[in-house]
Amino acid sequence: MSDNESKQQSVGIVGAGLVGCLAALAFAAKGYTVYIFELRPDPRENPNPKNLRSINLAVSDRGIRALKYVDEEMAERVLQYVIPMKGRMIHDISGTKQESQIYGLFGECINSIDRSFLNKVMLDEMTSSDKIKVLFNQKLIKLSQLTNDDETPKMTFLDLSSKSEEKKKEYEFDFIVGADGAHSQFRYQLQRFSRMNFQQQYIDMQYLELCIPPNPNSKEDNTIFSIDPNHLHIWPRHNFMLIALANQDGSFTSTFFSPWSVIESLKSADDFVEFFRFNFPDAYQLMGEESLRYSFDHQPRGSLMQVTAFPYHSPNGRALIIGDAAHSMVPFYGQGMNCGFEDVRVLMELIDSNNHDVKACFKQYSQDRHQDLLTICKLALDNYYEMSSKVTSPLYLFRKKIDYFLGKYASGRFLTWIPMYSMISFRGDIGYSDAVKIEKRQRRILNNIQNGTLGALAIFTAVKVAQYWHKLKN
Ligand code: FAD
Repeated sequence: MSDNESKQQSVGIVGAGLVGCLAALAFAAKGYTVYIFELRPDPRENPNPKNLRSINLAVSDRGIRALKYVDEEMAERVLQYVIPMKGRMIHDISGTKQESQIYGLFGECINSIDRSFLNKVMLDEMTSSDKIKVLFNQKLIKLSQLTNDDETPKMTFLDLSSKSEEKKKEYEFDFIVGADGAHSQFRYQLQRFSRMNFQQQYIDMQYLELCIPPNPNSKEDNTIFSIDPNHLHIWPRHNFMLIALANQDGSFTSTFFSPWSVIESLKSADDFVEFFRFNFPDAYQLMGEESLRYSFDHQPRGSLMQVTAFPYHSPNGRALIIGDAAHSMVPFYGQGMNCGFEDVRVLMELIDSNNHDVKACFKQYSQDRHQDLLTICKLALDNYYEMSSKVTSPLYLFRKKIDYFLGKYASGRFLTWIPMYSMISFRGDIGYSDAVKIEKRQRRILNNIQNGTLGALAIFTAVKVAQYWHKLKN
């Protein structure tokens, strides 16, 4: 297909969240005419305080690569407003000790960014493009014509802003993309046409968003932050945990994760404040009783779920799901959005390498991407245990030190050693499933080192004890 032919083709995208917006910009940059439909009103005119999604999130290498791939200038503009986080800061239960655990071998950081700011930058970019039409208040209710090769897909929306009786509107496109989030209507509709395997699993975990205000003594302390902004703060307490990420205005968005039974056992704001005072004494001081009470009584409690699906495309290869619509994961690896952005980059690279044969790309995308998506969903789930418990275990810290040492000093011509966290967060050139394969090999070596060290320690101790007894006897 010639470039000009492809440029006359149209793409309809459902969902102007983070991933849908990036997909729209990416298709437009390749010359396609794009329509993007969003259920909610324009967030630039109607900020939605009840939005359940976190206020800030961590963007790392995969997300940044994808942003740069689509629009280098926009990416640079966005990156000016991130707060780099070079490691985790672990807060102990006494509230007096903090321990920094650095993420990268060479100073790499993940970055805290305001979700609505990122969304607005992309919306502004879209509305200024003559290739993209953005329609708000449009609720997808139906998809059709997804079976036969020569059919072009139809989407039916309810126009929620229409004052007339007839709110239904139909649109037809060459290709359609569903980026309408974890509870995707697009995915549900697609299932009517394709033999899609699908799994939705609720995790026994709730999250409650809290806030650490800007430093009240900023003048004397010379900083608007009450705690170090360049760390992701974690209060690990095994069964539950608290985290906090810095915002540009000096505040921190903090999230309390716990099994439902824990939060439900707290019957009143008084109970919650007591629970906080006991388990997170320093966070309690920073947040203040009033704010904790308010959050307990008024902030919504989010549930967490994992969604996996396969395949992602329709039988006629003209429809595809991406982002949370295709793979919703728990937020413990900070990869949901990063992975959704990577979906866009992977798809665009396929479109380039298939000379704009989008049908072929959608089909190939399902095959090429599936293992990576399954892998990151599993890693995200496993990482809850790492964040909430393992980070305080001496054995874990010992292994981390060796892992770090090998990665930093022993990696060279004969040995390539990259810690798992680095592969996921800082090496977007390594696929998620390749990262797991590499890590398996490294883990075997680490186990040998650990067992060797423990064995040597045991022999040393046994010798010392024997010498001691020998001395006593004589
Ligand atoms: P969404 O952001 O859900 O966007 C979907 C859009 O589709 C919405 O705008 C919605 O209104 C619209 N829509 C829905 N239904 C319809 C319909 N019928 N018709 C039309 N439009 C519709 N990820 C990270 O990478 N790093 C992090 O640090 C991180 N932290 C997180 C913390 C928490 C507490 C949570 C819950 C998630 C976190 N994530 C993080 C994950 C991240 O938020 C998601 O992966 C990301 O928002 C997915 O983007 P999306 O565009 O696919 O879906």
